[in-house]
Amino acid sequence: MKKEAAKKSMIYTIDLTKIDGDGAFSCPKCGSMISPDDETEEVYQIIETKVKNDELAELTLACNKCGSTIRLVGFLSQPES
Ligand SMILES: [Zn+2]
Repeated sequence: MKKEAAKKSMIYTIDLTKIDGDGAFSCPKCGSMISPDDETEEVYQIIETKVKNDELAELTLACNKCGSTIRLVGFLSQPES
């Protein structure tokens, strides 16, 4: 049984291991700068946090500007295969 998502917004996946610097990246759709250090929630909101073995494994956030859903992966130093 498949659940149809209420909103058909685009979901982008960002691999943090492929980002240079402090982990900031621009929204794949609208180009807004999204920085993990930005806690104002003006640019993005955190929707979901997945923790594995007490470590942050995955973060889902939404861009406030264009409404895109962005999944951040690659927090863990050892990639799971
Ligand atoms: Zn955006």
